[in-house]
Amino acid sequence: MAALKKVKKPEARKPEARKLEARKPEAGEPRGLLGAHISTAGGVANAPPRADLIGATAMQIFTKQPNRWAEHEIAPEDAAAFRDALAKSGVRFTNAHDSYLINLASPDPALRDKSIGSFRAELRRCHALGLDALVSHPGNFMDDRADGIARNADAITQSLEQEPGVTRLLMELTAGQGTVIGSTFEEMALLLTKIPARLRKRMGVCLDTAHVFAAGYDLIKDYDGVWARCEDLLGIERLGLLHLNDSKAPLGSKKDRHELLGAGEIGAGPFERIMRDQRLANIPKVLETPKGDDMVTNDRRMLKMLRAFAGKGAGESGER
Ligand SMILES: [Zn+2]
Ligand SMILES: [Zn+2]
Repeated sequence: MAALKKVKKPEARKPEARKLEARKPEAGEPRGLLGAHISTAGGVANAPPRADLIGATAMQIFTKQPNRWAEHEIAPEDAAAFRDALAKSGVRFTNAHDSYLINLASPDPALRDKSIGSFRAELRRCHALGLDALVSHPGNFMDDRADGIARNADAITQSLEQEPGVTRLLMELTAGQGTVIGSTFEEMALLLTKIPARLRKRMGVCLDTAHVFAAGYDLIKDYDGVWARCEDLLGIERLGLLHLNDSKAPLGSKKDRHELLGAGEIGAGPFERIMRDQRLANIPKVLETPKGDDMVTNDRRMLKMLRAFAGKGAGESGER
């Protein structure tokens, strides 16, 4: 599934990363790839060693400032430095999250054109860096829902056609705030069917637990029902990434407010089930939970908790 095979080179690690090595998955360690959103401050090549500091094997980054329109291309030397740092790290799955300003469903032609330009630049940066996936939020329809879905699909089609590459595009389920598209499995499936099959092959879905919960899917009382509907309407094989976030906002609130795992409205239970769920075992999982005062303490704590959940599940299924 991963586009790049990353070879571990422990001798190149920094001392502070080396002492965390015991927490990196080795042969036989269960439950696939796990990590967090990682800062690229100071340059994109700084992200992989930061991911090592929390023992991450999956990493999400922004390739630009997500709340600004300014775009840039990745310089060849920066791409080389990133690939080198990645190869030396324990990270084996990397995705970018696209800019918050992009609205591919906008009825305003100027804003939609600007969004398509920005989205294409996101794809080019992912290709230059050799990232496995780009996560993109469906847009806001503003006027008419069906028209908005059609505009969104058309913009994705144009962009994928014009930016060929290996990076998989993962459309993220939304919380359903305002006129945003894609807060139900049905609507996400509809959006995907509007993309020509030859391009849809390059696409998948990202599911964020906080969004799904805020959108009204009860992961607490109806865990099995939610996944059954996801499987029926989208297919588990379409899931390319899970964002593991608890929610400050209640079930069905349609608000996107992330919280530390176990400290929000979802609580620890569903995350334990997710970590023990064989169907989801091979899907990379990244945290987008509050970092707190530094970049490592909270993330380390969250990942430790998730690994403990996974270990428990593996024990019960007789694998360890
Ligand atoms: Zn997310
Ligand atoms: Zn979110």
